[in-house]
Amino acid sequence: MNILVINAGSSSLKYQFIDIDTQAVLAKGLCERIGIEGSMLTQKVEGKENLVREEHMNDHSDAIKMVIEALTGPEHNVIPDMSKIDAVGHRVVHGGEVFSGSVVIDDKVMEALKDCIPLAPLHNPANIIGIEACQKAMPGTPQVGVFDTAFHQQMPAKAFMYALPYECYTKHKVRRYGFHGTSHKYVAQQAAKMLGKPLEELKLITAHLGNGSSVSAVMNGHSVDTSMGFTPLAGVPMGTRCGDIDPAIVTYLMEKEGLDAKGVDALMNKESGVFGISGISSDFRDLEAAMETNERAKLALDMFAYGVKKLIGAYAAAMGGVDAVVFTAGVGENTKITREDVTSGLEFMGIEIDKEANNCRGVQKDISAPGAKVKTLVIPTNEELMIALDTAALVK
Ligand code: AMP
Repeated sequence: MNILVINAGSSSLKYQFIDIDTQAVLAKGLCERIGIEGSMLTQKVEGKENLVREEHMNDHSDAIKMVIEALTGPEHNVIPDMSKIDAVGHRVVHGGEVFSGSVVIDDKVMEALKDCIPLAPLHNPANIIGIEACQKAMPGTPQVGVFDTAFHQQMPAKAFMYALPYECYTKHKVRRYGFHGTSHKYVAQQAAKMLGKPLEELKLITAHLGNGSSVSAVMNGHSVDTSMGFTPLAGVPMGTRCGDIDPAIVTYLMEKEGLDAKGVDALMNKESGVFGISGISSDFRDLEAAMETNERAKLALDMFAYGVKKLIGAYAAAMGGVDAVVFTAGVGENTKITREDVTSGLEFMGIEIDKEANNCRGVQKDISAPGAKVKTLVIPTNEELMIALDTAALVK
């Protein structure tokens, strides 16, 4: 069975074409600058030269047509025709409280997706446009929605409620939703395989540390708490996002800096995080390179690691223990210094890493010190594969 995985943004569309039986990525690509001058498609197939098509794409429908042409065209010859696309799995950022798992998309689901737009006004409209474009181009092919929020939908109310007037929840749906759910679910499943135990019997802390970061407590196969909240702005400091701050700072800064709602939102989302602290970069590679000579780069890295470390303590307390800590995503998979800083001093909890083993990048590996009670694992995330697996399971 072949699954086309689509991640549609407002002016871009990423895709992977996956053979579910072998889990091989047969092709992957990107449509850029959709609706803007200079739009182009780039497709990669292992062992072949990249296919680059510079052709105007008016909208996402044009983009999908080009994706199908690229997959079926003579250059890469991935599949002979469209009928070999058995189903399409779509990444959808926000599923609100409606979706606690992936779903086959029908008219009712489309309506519910549209109802979720106010919760993710920047992301969900693009995801919906991507789905509609696929429905148009491949009318008979099943479409599945896989939500970033779904894995967190079984959090207990004590974890997802904010101590605001209860009506903020009932009237405006203000609550913790959590994000990166597809990644947390994937690495939790992989961790169970590595540990040789059923996921349903494990207490895991999964740290998705990338440009956006979130940490989750995964107990018996479900997320029971997570650091991102109503939006992906909450939690640990991120590339350019501030993470948790005293909420009173918002109104204070609005007054002091004469900012309106949009201005303060931009400050917290785009000018903060490790970029705001260091003043040089949101990229952890730059910060690592500068940390010896630049105090603020070092401070940014320290604040980040400290934020993650505190959550490990909190989530171990929430679950009454922890069997393994999992590092994933760009920083979690690649940055040994961050993994070392996050775990140092946690020996009292049974968390201890082996410095030699930790000297790795982008590989699945147990980096625990011999005899450590709690395992520390590095597991490269694979959200596309998770989306493909969910899609295949639903349409089979
Ligand atoms: P992501 O959002 O998961 O794509 O992660 C992006 C972040 O991962 C950026 O801040 C990068 O600096 C960081 N990153 C990616 N590759 C490396 C690497 N080889 N070493 C250190 N950080 C990395």
